[in-house]
Amino acid sequence: MEDPLSHLPVGELIERANSKINPASGETVLTEGDIVPTRNWKNADPCTSTGCKWPKSPDGNVYVPYLISYPYSATQMQVIQKALDSFSTVSCIHFIPRTNQKAYINIKSINGCWSLIGHTGSMQTVSLAQYGCIYHQIIQHELLHVLGFHHEQSRSDRDKYIQVAWENVSDDMKGNFNIKRTLNRGTSYDYNSVMQYQRTAFSKNGLPTMIPFPDPNVAFGQATEMSQNDITRLKLLYQC
Ligand SMILES: [Zn+2]
Repeated sequence: MEDPLSHLPVGELIERANSKINPASGETVLTEGDIVPTRNWKNADPCTSTGCKWPKSPDGNVYVPYLISYPYSATQMQVIQKALDSFSTVSCIHFIPRTNQKAYINIKSINGCWSLIGHTGSMQTVSLAQYGCIYHQIIQHELLHVLGFHHEQSRSDRDKYIQVAWENVSDDMKGNFNIKRTLNRGTSYDYNSVMQYQRTAFSKNGLPTMIPFPDPNVAFGQATEMSQNDITRLKLLYQC
């Protein structure tokens, strides 16, 4: 039977899954909802122009080795595999099973859904919790972090497209709305990006934390898969 949650917007699913993480008990400290900070994390997106982009192979493709080191169920493996393969059909990015590569992603069920930004040069974990994270949209979202992308609401030009309603943001979640010096590749802000959280993300009172403008009623943060814009950016970044 299909999981009734599988049609929920990506940000809603991630918030749900990550709400149980407890940093006080020594669990992973996340920034911006589902990103693990690294030493060079302040370079986030711009680091893709100076070394955190996955390397291109001589044949023009980009191969990202993966290892799935958790005993997910057969159904869950299918969902994960489909999301990994979804990049090959629309871009030159190919997630391939790891053999002996030094740099690779290690997919496992830890606590919630999270990733680092970009290529680190060695093993990097992508947590996809068995309960809560095995959804197409979440996996595509985390893989876009792996490939160097930040959240749409962190874009350097976001204040031109959304207004952050700070009075509704939980005090400990305000950092989730820090603007990053992102490379936007000439693409416009995309309300339907799989990297865009929903209107009420990180809200303390259920009221909207993000209001699009000039049209406050535009469909917003409802993505259940990569948008055409997400794909265009990916191709622009990796030049293929
Ligand atoms: Zn994210």
